[in-house]
Amino acid sequence: MAFWGNKEDGEQPGRPAANKPATGGTLEEGYNELVQAKGRTPGIDLAIRLSDLILEHAVTERASDVHLESQGVNLRVRFRVDGILQDMLMAPKNADIPLTQRIRVLAGFDPEPPTSFRNEEGRFQKMLAGRAIQVRVSSFPTVNGEKLVLRVMDRQQLGIDLDQLGLDPDTLAITKKIIRNPYGIFFITGATGSGKTTSLYAILKNINTPMINIITLEDPVEYRLEGINQAQISTKTGFTWAEGLRTILRQDPNVIMVGEIRDYDTAEISLRSALTGHLLFTTIHTINAPSIIERLFEMGIPPFLIGSSMLGAMSQRLVRKVCPECCQKAAAPSEPIVNEFVKNMDPEEARLVKELILKPGANYKVEKGCSACRNTGYSGRMGIFELMLMNEEIRKHILDHSPTDVIKRTAIKTGKMRTLLMDGIMKARSGSTTLSEIIRVTATMV
Ligand SMILES: [Zn+2]
Repeated sequence: MAFWGNKEDGEQPGRPAANKPATGGTLEEGYNELVQAKGRTPGIDLAIRLSDLILEHAVTERASDVHLESQGVNLRVRFRVDGILQDMLMAPKNADIPLTQRIRVLAGFDPEPPTSFRNEEGRFQKMLAGRAIQVRVSSFPTVNGEKLVLRVMDRQQLGIDLDQLGLDPDTLAITKKIIRNPYGIFFITGATGSGKTTSLYAILKNINTPMINIITLEDPVEYRLEGINQAQISTKTGFTWAEGLRTILRQDPNVIMVGEIRDYDTAEISLRSALTGHLLFTTIHTINAPSIIERLFEMGIPPFLIGSSMLGAMSQRLVRKVCPECCQKAAAPSEPIVNEFVKNMDPEEARLVKELILKPGANYKVEKGCSACRNTGYSGRMGIFELMLMNEEIRKHILDHSPTDVIKRTAIKTGKMRTLLMDGIMKARSGSTTLSEIIRVTATMV
C-alpha cells in the first residue's frame, strides 16, 4: 500500500497534477506546491484542497489530532502521532485562501471566529484515503489568533477486537470470562488518551449478541456500534449521567456501559444496578486499578456495595512501539541500576519487578531513528494492561476500608495481578517496545 511520504514506494513526491492534491512528499512540500501552482484557482477552491491535503496527511500518518495555530502572520500545523506532537508545516497566512474558514464551515461554525469568546465544538465526516473519517473540531481564541484542534477519529483503527488490544493470552482469556458474568461491574481506568474507549467498545463488541440488550451512555458518542443502543449525555437538557442511567434501567437492559463515573449519584446507581442483575462497564479516573476502590470511598460509596458488586478492574496506558526498521539490540540494565529503580517500591513488588527485568532470555531493544519513523525511533502504539480481579482477600480489605497500597499488595500477592509496569516490562522483554518508553509512561505510578 502506498503511503504519503513513503518515497521507496515508487511514487514520485511533489508532482501533483493540476487539479488534485499532491500524492507524495511531506505535507509542507504538497502545501507549497499547491499554493505556488494556484494560478487562477479561486481561493476557496484552494482552501478546500489544502484542508483535504492536511487531513489526508493526518490520516495516512495516523495522527490522532491536528493543531492549526495562528501565529501572527504564519499558520503552524502540528500533528499528534503516537501521542507526541510533531511540527508538520509553517506557512505564511494568505488572506486570499480561507483555509481556517473552510475548516470552520465543515465543523458547522460561522466562517469567521466569534469576536467574544464562545465555546465552539463541531464535527464532520469525510472520505479520506478511502475511508470514512470523523473529525471533531474545537476552536480556541489565543492572543495570536484562532487555534483549531481537530480530533481525527478513524473508524478503521477503532474497529478493534478484544484479541487485538495487546492483552497477553492469559489476561485475554480471563478478561473474556469476566465480561460474560451475568451481573456485576467492571471498571476501566487510565489517563485521557489511554485507549479506554477502544477497550470498552472492544468488550461490548465481544459480548454483543441479538439475545442481550446493550445500552450505552456516553459523552460524546465517539463511534456508532452496530446493534448497540447508544445515548449521548447532555447536561444542557438535564440528561445527566445519573438521569440517563435511571432512564436506561427502565429500558430492560442486560448490559450497560456508562462512559464515565465521576460523582456519587452515578456511582451509587451503577453499583446498585450491578447487584440487581445487570452487567455494567464503565471508566473512572485513577492512576491504577487498585486505587479505584479508594476513589469510590472518596465519593461516599459504602464498602459493602463496592465489595459485593465489583468484578474487577483494568488499568491501561498506551506505549509507543519501537520502530522495526531501525531499532537495535540492547543488553539488560545492570543490577545496580535496577536496584536504584525499584528502591521506593513495595518490597514484594520491587522483588518481582527486579526479577522480571533481569531474568535471562530478554530480547531488549533500544530506539535509534530513521526516515521510516521520522527519527523518533518509534512507530505505532500498543496497550499495556493491569487486570485486578476481585477475590475474598481483596473484598475483606475493602470492608476494612484499607488504603490503596494494601489493596494493591493483596492483588499482586493473592490475585497474581501483573501491574502496568510489569506488563510493560514483559512487552519490552519481547522487543515490542523499550524499557525507557515503559518507564516514561509509567513514571507517575512508581
Ligand atoms: Zn526507524
